[in-house]
Amino acid sequence: MANPKIDPTLKKPAAGDGDGPLYAETVMIHPRSVKGTFRTWKWVALGVLLAVYHLAPFIRWDRGPDAPSQAILADMTGRRGYFFFLEIWPQEVYYITGLLFIAAIALFFMSAMAGRVWCGFFCFQTVYTDLFMLVERLVVGDRAKRMALDRAPWSADKLVKKAIINLVWLVIGASCGIGFTLFFGDAPTMLRDIFAGNEDTGVYGTIAVVGGCCFLLAGYAREQVCLYMCPYSRFQSAMFDEHSLIITYEEWRGEPRKPARKGEGFENRGHCIDCKMCVTACPTGIDIRDGIQMACIGCALCIDACNTMMDKYKLPRGLITWDSTANLAAREKGEKGSFRLIRPRSILYVVIMAAVGGLMVFGLSSRKTFELNVLHERAPLFVQLSDGSIRNGYTLKVLNMVREDRTFILEVAGIEGATINVVGGETKAASAQLKVAADAVGTYNMFVTAPVAKLQGKRTPLYFTLRETGTGTTNRLESLFAAPER
Ligand code: SF4
Ligand code: SF4
Repeated sequence: MANPKIDPTLKKPAAGDGDGPLYAETVMIHPRSVKGTFRTWKWVALGVLLAVYHLAPFIRWDRGPDAPSQAILADMTGRRGYFFFLEIWPQEVYYITGLLFIAAIALFFMSAMAGRVWCGFFCFQTVYTDLFMLVERLVVGDRAKRMALDRAPWSADKLVKKAIINLVWLVIGASCGIGFTLFFGDAPTMLRDIFAGNEDTGVYGTIAVVGGCCFLLAGYAREQVCLYMCPYSRFQSAMFDEHSLIITYEEWRGEPRKPARKGEGFENRGHCIDCKMCVTACPTGIDIRDGIQMACIGCALCIDACNTMMDKYKLPRGLITWDSTANLAAREKGEKGSFRLIRPRSILYVVIMAAVGGLMVFGLSSRKTFELNVLHERAPLFVQLSDGSIRNGYTLKVLNMVREDRTFILEVAGIEGATINVVGGETKAASAQLKVAADAVGTYNMFVTAPVAKLQGKRTPLYFTLRETGTGTTNRLESLFAAPER
């Protein structure tokens, strides 16, 4: 059976339309370049995002001596995350979960208000695809020339142009990969080592994986990522209501569409001249005149394309517009539309973000500067000493989460007469002094000895209290004291 290439800009046959091929090879979409307000904003967003991505690892933040001076750093070796004044320990990873949760709700809020503004302007897939297409445009030319080059048989000219494009894409991909790795180490040092060939294989591997993904996704997969790989397009419509701003075609004004002829006016016909500029400018190759579609990423380039034609024919702008369906209906009836920011779902999203943000701020402001972890030794569970008393072994971990050496006092409670003996420290006492170096975890092996008469049976609750001598802050933890059955 013949396997024709399907132009994605054409309408797909409806289900049950007959015997079309089961497989169709996707053809590369070459959108036409457009000029206009939204195109300008997209360039601004691209410039700002790439600048932030590549410059952020070079921002310095003074944390004192012996501490990393990079403002944003994921220190995998030291198992620590740094974000300006914040230092996140592994057990505080829930802050990152909180941040991701707020980011997800912010995305829902953004979608409910302004449609797929994230996809069209800020998503890295869109940003890099725009950049890669710019390279193609600079090397080959606009849509018609790029399509002609794709159709042309292989020649020296085609080979050179394709090689230049792929080479520049590879450089951009590599810079994307390098930019990513710089968040995981001291950026200036890493950058020097990467180019000097002194970095680990892992770093070069990460650059290859991230850079390779950038190259393939933005260079070759393009809109396929948005259509088939990104889950967001599948459920975005659940966030829209009649007041969400989306890219729409004013059918009531545009139809019946008809090509413009010289000398003919626009009476008794629609304003759409069927020039297909909106279709050829679309990076996903759809026709927005067919209605709201999952493949529309909200880039608004069709608005710029259509406005250019409206200006040319001295017709009012906004045949394709970024507006709500409520306003569209109002205008169709000749009424004036308005934007409703405050509505149940916007309130709900703001409340959720405020609640999670508030919880995180509370958690951060009241976060402990030290932590105590106690692990009961299991082999043996207990030892009976020659005087009849019972001894249990424990491993203690004290996390000193500030950048100064600190002294702590450890006490046990819950069993009358219980004594502590830290291995290598003082012999049996009611309390023990523990010194922990700055920004470090102190690990201690210790024994608790208790008179058998004061025990409640096989398991007696035992409480460890750790007091920081400077501030008097305490941290209390419940554990168990094991004994033989009596
Ligand atoms: S229909 Fe318009 S807004 Fe949607 S993806 Fe195509 S050009 Fe962008
Ligand atoms: S660009 Fe405007 S006038 Fe041209 S086909 Fe699209 S909607 Fe119609």
